[in-house]
Amino acid sequence: MEKRSRKSPPFEINGEYISPGTRQLVSIQAGTTMSNHPLSVTADIFHGKKPGPCLLITACVHGDEINGTEIIRRLLTSPVLKRLSGTLLTIPIVNFPAFTSRTRYLPDRRDLNRIFPGSEKGSQGARLAYTITKKFLPLCDAVIDLHTGAINRPNLPQLRIAAGDASSLELGRAFAAPVTMLSPLRDGTFRESAFKLEKPFVLYEAGEASRLDAASIRFGVQGIIAAMRHMGMLPPSKAAHPSGKGIISKSSRWERAPSGGLFVPHVALGKAVATGDILGIIAPPVGGGDGTPIISTTDGIVIGRNNEGLADEGDALFHVASIRDAGSAETQIQESNDRLPELHAEEEEHPMRYHAFPD
Ligand SMILES: [Zn+2]
Repeated sequence: MEKRSRKSPPFEINGEYISPGTRQLVSIQAGTTMSNHPLSVTADIFHGKKPGPCLLITACVHGDEINGTEIIRRLLTSPVLKRLSGTLLTIPIVNFPAFTSRTRYLPDRRDLNRIFPGSEKGSQGARLAYTITKKFLPLCDAVIDLHTGAINRPNLPQLRIAAGDASSLELGRAFAAPVTMLSPLRDGTFRESAFKLEKPFVLYEAGEASRLDAASIRFGVQGIIAAMRHMGMLPPSKAAHPSGKGIISKSSRWERAPSGGLFVPHVALGKAVATGDILGIIAPPVGGGDGTPIISTTDGIVIGRNNEGLADEGDALFHVASIRDAGSAETQIQESNDRLPELHAEEEEHPMRYHAFPD
């Protein structure tokens, strides 16, 4: 009898009821598109047999940031979910109009992540933001929002957490990406709407737009599972988290092109740099010459890098997180990468090989 009483009640969302131990799609319509098709937000929901917290996981708020969609797909097929307590409320594609046009922004060229909390009768983006804020956000106990860098600007797997937000930092420490950046809240973001509702919110940034990157995906899945263990949604694991405690940085800076020309980088993602180090060169495309060095102005770890071969003067090229002991941070990041376990090792479902932050 004791066991039976601990069974979860059905999960209610928008007038639908999802039985314990089942996975179900639920679409909520926000309007219509120009083709008179519904403009909807579709959630893929795994409701556990046992009661517990609800974790909202969102991807593709920016339509071309598809690593998060693959992270959710893998998570939902993971055998660990057989032991789920609570509810995994996932939205694999928040910004469907941008996703289908393979772009970051909405069809009206606005940034969905600047118009939260949105409005019921507003523009397409405002309606999507409103649906997320009103229909999904109140149902959850915490949020993990999945992003990537822009096209040709990959990010080292990292978390962004609002500075001074203790409950989000606690969740972030459990997720433990290789690096965590403490950064200010921005107006109009999904993160700000969640903060106002006092929902712990972790933003994961990894890889680049329009490309599936294995390391970014695997750190994402591992981090979410670790966060779920921390929330009591999954039983504790004896295995150490691959990232240990991760590295926390409170500031970062972009090193920019000192002139225009060919951009030849010398330093890869995840590498330590010191003030005065040469990060790469800008060389004239015609007429020869050694080129102008790009000099680091801080000690830290490269957490983002431009991968285009050309730069105009002033283009952002290396994103460096300021870290005092960058050398040991680099070692820790490399070790965390080496410690990533085989995902789905039991089933060998996803044999995708990867290399540590290749260059
Ligand atoms: Zn994004």
